[in-house]
Amino acid sequence: MEDRILSSVVEITEQRNTISLGHCLVATMTEMMPVKYASLKHFINSTAVIVAEVSYDEESHSFHWYYDQSVENCHHNHESNEIVSFQGEKGETIYQFPIPISDDSSAVLHVEIKGSIEEYKLLIDGFAKIYKNYLIVLHESERDKLTGLLNRRTLEERLSHCFDIASTSSGDLNLWVAIIDLDHFKQINDTYGHMIGDEVLLMFAQQMQSYFSNREQLFRFGGEEFVILLPPQDKRSVISMLNGFRQHIELYRFPQVEQITLSCGVCAISNNEYLPTILDHADKALYLAKESGRNQIQCYEDIASERNSDTESDPFDDVELF
Ligand code: GH3
Ligand code: MG
Ligand code: MG
Repeated sequence: MEDRILSSVVEITEQRNTISLGHCLVATMTEMMPVKYASLKHFINSTAVIVAEVSYDEESHSFHWYYDQSVENCHHNHESNEIVSFQGEKGETIYQFPIPISDDSSAVLHVEIKGSIEEYKLLIDGFAKIYKNYLIVLHESERDKLTGLLNRRTLEERLSHCFDIASTSSGDLNLWVAIIDLDHFKQINDTYGHMIGDEVLLMFAQQMQSYFSNREQLFRFGGEEFVILLPPQDKRSVISMLNGFRQHIELYRFPQVEQITLSCGVCAISNNEYLPTILDHADKALYLAKESGRNQIQCYEDIASERNSDTESDPFDDVELF
């Protein structure tokens, strides 16, 4: 048993991002005890995501896995510290191990065991605590220091994860990636100084966090550029959401600087594209938003289809990246 605990701890601490860390915690439960069901759910404000869920299928003697399912409108006490049990849909007893993380975020680990849970309670609680401590360490390494948004390294991991979902999904709604670049930001630094510039970046990031829900993943790409990964939806709703944010920023009053505007390029993450070309497409759409007068959203698919009808060659042959 000690050997297995040790190798599980090693495996947990080998994880390099918070998503694979969550998957690893649930997998550990299945390796250490006779699990019938286990899930890890994260709560941020009033929304929740089931990071990983596993249930044992008696007939096929195998585990069924589900990942990254979002749950709307969940109210949860983030400070709860007590292990409790409740009856599942089929009358089974599920134990809930709380994982408090911060004032507005927490997680819970749900476990149903074949037989009595008593001999495993201490072990599960211990793993939940190791998970929490390591999550906090990873959380910092995934974030940009100034704004607290996810950083560029994390974008590469998350984008590749989105791409895996897009390649295997049969649904006809796309995930989307948007690149936002603040307009004439150099002028803000030149006029008000770098410190005020930094304050604008921080306040802009806060506006992003309050406007978007946690279904949208927000990144600082570098400098005054930001990236948003948006969940599956049609083009109209993604453009309308981004346009709503553009207008919100246009109307928002920043201290001293007053008004700033943004330009944005958006592109669908479709399964017949290569991963590196997706960001490149969003960047090309952003370039066109800048060229066409700034303070606007451009969608790669629109421009590509418009240009395709004009010419047989690559629609962006003449677009230089900046
Ligand atoms: P455009 O509308 O074409 O995007 O114009 P721009 O001035 O925003 O673009 P440009 O790329 O010429 O300038 C970006 C400026 O952003 C240059 C740099 O001084 C500033 N910048 C980049 N990173 C930071 C940062 O971390 N803090 C501050 N204060 N400024 C930054
Ligand atoms: Mg820029
Ligand atoms: Mg700019």
